[in-house]
Amino acid sequence: MTIELFREDAYLKECEATVMAVTERGGIVLDQTVFYPTGGGQPGDSGILIPADGRRLRIASTVYDRDSGAIVHVPDDSGEVGQDLPAVGTAVKAVIDWDRRYRHMRMHTALHLLCAVVPCGVTGGQIGVEKSRLDFDIGEQTLDKEEITAQLNDLVARDISVSANWISDEQLDRNPDLVRTMSVAPPRGAGRVRLIKVGEDVDLQPCGGTHVKRTSEIGPLRVSKIENKGKRNRRVNIVFADQAGRDQ
Ligand SMILES: [Zn+2]
Repeated sequence: MTIELFREDAYLKECEATVMAVTERGGIVLDQTVFYPTGGGQPGDSGILIPADGRRLRIASTVYDRDSGAIVHVPDDSGEVGQDLPAVGTAVKAVIDWDRRYRHMRMHTALHLLCAVVPCGVTGGQIGVEKSRLDFDIGEQTLDKEEITAQLNDLVARDISVSANWISDEQLDRNPDLVRTMSVAPPRGAGRVRLIKVGEDVDLQPCGGTHVKRTSEIGPLRVSKIENKGKRNRRVNIVFADQAGRDQ
């Protein structure tokens, strides 16, 4: 199993690692990594692996291997010449594309705020570097673009702290009130679950993604579009407000 350094510290941009395996399809498994694998609506990280000989192996994405549970670094094979893969046992420096990841962290945390602002069940979501979305089952409610934008920016401006902690299934069972206050029900059976808390009472939910430490890091947001996805379902799209001219 790969040690998931990004889980304890989302701000780590690089780490030393050792190649543990190369999969049949050319994916690279390390003993530890700062690369976040695709999951929970957040795209996997891209970046580079640098062996001691100084070559730079471009990584296009990172995924979980469903069968083994390993984190697989997928080399970029979009170039004209294939990249040589490092042998098992090779020491590498693993460096993520931080600009892209940091935007994912800001967007991801913004979606937690959106959960807090729209008090409806979430049915889906996707995080991107330019826009992100959550799908809500709104029931009889109506949603207002400007109002949600204002509430999101208020939470950003309040510079609220975002923290993570692990809690066991037993602790969850002993605290039904805790589960009731979560905006998304925790998964059971893994033994423990990671909770992300925004402020004391803004948002609490189980989440394995990467987040910023304070809401001010997100920066100004704007609801770009609310799409009608059926009688009860609405898709709320958000963008960074400094992206002038973008309406998607
Ligand atoms: Zn999250």
